[in-house]
Amino acid sequence: MSEQFDVLIVGGGHGGTAAAMALRQYGFDGSVGIVNAESTLPYQRPPLSKSFLAGEVGLDRILIRPESFWAENRITLIQGTRVDAVQPAAKVAITDTGESIGYGQLIWAAGSSPRWLDPARDRKLSGVHVVRDVSDTQRLRTDVLNGSRAVIVGGGYVGLEVAAVLRKLGKPVTVLEAADRVLARVSAEPISQFYEAQHREHGVEIQVGRQVADLEARNGHVNAVHLATGEELPCDVVVIGIGAMPTTAPLIAAGAAAGNGLLVDALCRTSLPGIFAIGDSVAAPNRYAGGATVRLESLQNAADQGVIVARHIAGQPQGDPPVPTFWSDQYDLKLKTVGLNTGYDEVVVRGTPASKSFSVVYLRDGRVTAIDAVNAMKDFAQGKALVRSGADIAPALLADPSRPISDLLAQIAR
Ligand SMILES: Cc1cc2nc3c(=O)[nH]c(=O)nc-3n(C[C@H](O)[C@H](O)[C@H](O)COP(=O)(O)OP(=O)(O)OC[C@H]3O[C@@H](n4cnc5c(N)ncnc54)[C@H](O)[C@@H]3O)c2cc1C
Repeated sequence: MSEQFDVLIVGGGHGGTAAAMALRQYGFDGSVGIVNAESTLPYQRPPLSKSFLAGEVGLDRILIRPESFWAENRITLIQGTRVDAVQPAAKVAITDTGESIGYGQLIWAAGSSPRWLDPARDRKLSGVHVVRDVSDTQRLRTDVLNGSRAVIVGGGYVGLEVAAVLRKLGKPVTVLEAADRVLARVSAEPISQFYEAQHREHGVEIQVGRQVADLEARNGHVNAVHLATGEELPCDVVVIGIGAMPTTAPLIAAGAAAGNGLLVDALCRTSLPGIFAIGDSVAAPNRYAGGATVRLESLQNAADQGVIVARHIAGQPQGDPPVPTFWSDQYDLKLKTVGLNTGYDEVVVRGTPASKSFSVVYLRDGRVTAIDAVNAMKDFAQGKALVRSGADIAPALLADPSRPISDLLAQIAR
């Protein structure tokens, strides 16, 4: 066996690094190793579809911590190495180079990998991109700067953020969305309508209800997208933003229970002894989804789950379950979401979308479960307490932006 760690973390992204840092913060003194498939130092992923793609910040500005931090905190980084198998009985992880790394406890933080339309076809074509890691964004940026027209498949957060950057770079962009509106999976209609209008105003061609049938290439480079309707969209860059799949194979092969992600309990314990899992790769019970098991793709979720595991390993008490939060930056618009809108049955718009500062409040059975705040930081910040309280507030009060959310909450408390 080449190495042995008291805690071995697989994946050096947001969850893995948060777990390692929290272990030290909570006084864990044992050895900690992070084995990471990427050879880059741990970095922040959100800028990959925003400022890093725009060329506004370089890699040095998006590192999670400077290089010296890891050694100073006795966290061993094993870069450019993938874990291909885990043997829970022997407590070893086997890497792609065939080495065994022993562990006392293992934290699986391997994230997710982007979906392709047709992996066998798309991966072979130049000009066709997904956005997951630094090298994806670097390749995409080069192609965009040299290209003349881009088609983005998928009108979710990543697709729309990339569209906004490409417009900033002056490139013609078409977004194709299969559903009847953008952001349909994550938000209600007023948010979708607002973002569609904003993108159109910035010159993005948004086409909803569109299915891609095929990609056409010349000399190995994409040169058109064919739609199910028979239409053809000429382009030299295609970005596929149709979601991601949890990275789970080695743990499933080792016998871990899984559904849409590795199944874990409230302490992020998998069904395998001594193995925790966090971040994009897990489905965990969530109080804010009414206790249902959900898989969340957000930085805050990955980092918070890292802290939960670190506290548990370090023998520290747990805090209250964190309220889920998400964000997306497009043009001058900051969308911040607090809570989960799963199963909402009522939506209240607070303020006027035309002012570019408003919120959408989601209710289920009369209780506020989530808020999407667009350029409305106060609603987001105060909304956290509202979502946490599960309060029952009359929609007419919520709809009045002159009544701060904190006042509405204070009234209930009285
Ligand atoms: C382009 C983009 C923009 C985003 N924007 C936002 C945003 O604005 N706000 C937000 O909240 N969230 C955003 N997200 C989502 C957020 O980045 C993820 O939810 C978060 O990174 C998940 O953390 P994680 O630790 O689970 O996985 P990751 O941060 O993805 O880290 C997983 C790491 O594990 C490595 N790995 C995988 N398999 C193995 C293996 N077998 N062995 C070793 N290493 C392995 C991977 O290479 C990767 O480095 C964005 C994601 C992307 C891709």
